[in-house]
Amino acid sequence: MDEARVVPGARRGFQAVTSSLLDKGDIALLSDLGHYTEYLAVEVAGGVVREIPSGDSKIVTGDAVADTIERVEATTGKKPKLIIVEHFDYSYGNEHDVRGIGKVAKEYGIPFLYNGAYSVGMVPVNGKDIGADFVVGSGHKGMAAVAPSGILATTEEWAPIVFRMADVTGDISARRFEHKETELLGCTLMGGTIISMMASFPRVKERVKHWSEEVEKSNYFIREFLRIAGNKIMSEYPRKHTLSRVDTRNSFDKVARTHKRRGFFLSDELKRRGIIGEFEGSTRVWKLNTYGLSWERIRYLADAFLDIARKYKLPVG
Ligand SMILES: *Cc1c(COP(=O)(O)O)cnc(C)c1O
Repeated sequence: MDEARVVPGARRGFQAVTSSLLDKGDIALLSDLGHYTEYLAVEVAGGVVREIPSGDSKIVTGDAVADTIERVEATTGKKPKLIIVEHFDYSYGNEHDVRGIGKVAKEYGIPFLYNGAYSVGMVPVNGKDIGADFVVGSGHKGMAAVAPSGILATTEEWAPIVFRMADVTGDISARRFEHKETELLGCTLMGGTIISMMASFPRVKERVKHWSEEVEKSNYFIREFLRIAGNKIMSEYPRKHTLSRVDTRNSFDKVARTHKRRGFFLSDELKRRGIIGEFEGSTRVWKLNTYGLSWERIRYLADAFLDIARKYKLPVG
């Protein structure tokens, strides 16, 4: 992209864009898998949300975006003013067709905000190649920084609009603040948050080069995990991300039904093996993320699940 600002969270990046681009009643398109902060950023700007269906595949395509634009125009007589779609959604970690969406957005002349909360800082992202007008990342999601932090980047075309200078004048003092960027309320990130982004940045720049290996490890783990009879993956498979949604209703949850610790038996067993971080007590549908684990730890993790399955007499293929 051409210009960037650090912001206090991805949501503040969305807000700077919605507040610059949307007038009251304007329509913004979001995916039906969109993050709540996108919806709220549209609401706070007075906009109206229309959703792009991700369908049975839970993948948002360029065609679905084009169809939604046509449908919204036909039913409201209005052209959407903004499209916001995440590269990888937070529910499934599925990859959405951001390039196809970028192309459709250009064809219809509607700006496209690429939500990189689950990509920027882990996956190499080139906003211009994708066809994005805005790229938003989250410091505390993908950039190994403390909360609240994030980044908003845009093109030469949109920078003067989203990063415009204040135009206000005090009626008594006649004071003006022409060097303050209005959407950022005159200041970007402050204190420890920006220091943490700076501290992690060299490592973050380096680690995006190893994304394909992270995806390989994710696939290795899921392949092993699926050897346990009844385990299912709800995310697209093979995996293109390290965040996955799994369904263990026909495996670990069967054990939970008669176990005196109920769903906590799985957390107990994992904890006993030094594994923490999953949704404690959950044995139905839950998410896990293998990002950053070494091969040794990935194998250990996979073996731990197989071991627990065998202990409770769940068949392992
Ligand atoms: C967490 C998240 C956000 C919001 O990010 P913040 O930096 O916390 O504002 C936006 N989109 C997705 C997909 C997220 O997971």
